[in-house]
Amino acid sequence: MSTNQNLRVLKFGGSSLATPEQIRSVAQNIFNLHQSGKKLIVVVSAMGRTTDQLLTLARQVSKSPNRRELDMLLTTGERVSMALMSMALHDLGCPSISFTGSQAGVMTDSSHSNARILEIKPFRVAEALAENKVVVLAGFQGVDPNSKEITTLGRGGSDTTAVAMAAHFNASRCEILKDVDGVFSSDPKIVNSARLYAELPLTILYEFCFWGAKVLNYRSVEWARQKKVPLFIGRSDNFKIGTQCSSETFSSPSLMGVNSHINVVELSAKAAHISEATHSITDFSDQLGLPAPQILKAEIHDGDLKLLITNESETLNEFANSLADSKDLHLSRRDISSVTETYADGRSLTHIVNSKDREPLIQKLHEKIEHEP
Ligand code: ASP
Ligand code: MG
Repeated sequence: MSTNQNLRVLKFGGSSLATPEQIRSVAQNIFNLHQSGKKLIVVVSAMGRTTDQLLTLARQVSKSPNRRELDMLLTTGERVSMALMSMALHDLGCPSISFTGSQAGVMTDSSHSNARILEIKPFRVAEALAENKVVVLAGFQGVDPNSKEITTLGRGGSDTTAVAMAAHFNASRCEILKDVDGVFSSDPKIVNSARLYAELPLTILYEFCFWGAKVLNYRSVEWARQKKVPLFIGRSDNFKIGTQCSSETFSSPSLMGVNSHINVVELSAKAAHISEATHSITDFSDQLGLPAPQILKAEIHDGDLKLLITNESETLNEFANSLADSKDLHLSRRDISSVTETYADGRSLTHIVNSKDREPLIQKLHEKIEHEP
């Protein structure tokens, strides 16, 4: 199918929607684009630090919040944003309608707090677009079509909503708009001289995000790579400065980026197959009522399976602390971090270090990029 040149998907991050003034100002930009004849799907995140505040609130009420109810709570953040954005558009005389994830047909598996999108059936979105409305969607959420339960897509999951919609409708652009200039070669807070890329292959962006770059949810990039979605990551106040990502690949061998997960845990398991250990991890997380961690690496050494996993720090700690109760999984190391070099041909090379050595290693490895012509 050819791309729908007239359709753009815009996703706004929480820091770009933190105040009523910001919401009105973003609405004005959306209105201007709509006036110029574009069809628009606008995906919004929760305002400012709302999601973190809701998580704190949940933990003040309950030591380990029920995961279904936690999803019910967290999805309200995006729902607030979508309703306010659509109100602001109405005030400007811009036709618009907001939908939750389930209204927009985002179907997921049943994994609360870290669900995967399986399929989207956005009938109401298509109808509203045909009526020339700006469609405002609550990001980060969907529904399990079997149980009818509301799910969330993991931190930063509004990116995934945006990419899935862009893929479904063959949008000419999927723009992830936030308060950063685009994708850097490393975290600019750790490496002052980190390079901003004007263009980047999706394969490289995927490696960056899988290995810890916070710029996008890695599953959203996985989706974009599979469906060849033209992604743009840039500033919400300008729509121009940013990184354009495409399916093109580079063939040069040079180092492109150094990324890192601060909190990593190494596990060992006696399992004949990696899939067996993966199931143990999922089962054990379910027993604990925690979302399954991201499995970074699984390797068999001398009959022992070693696994590297990561997650949000509190969840990972809870998981690691409970491992003594697991018969299948054993804790090998904690307080370690991963530092990963990614090369232009898509190869990634990961170092595991004590967490205190993480930043110096990132800085040292990054010098290889700085010294390149
Ligand atoms: N509000 C959610 C989060 O902070 C989802 C998102 O922003 O994409 O993770
Ligand atoms: Mg957010």
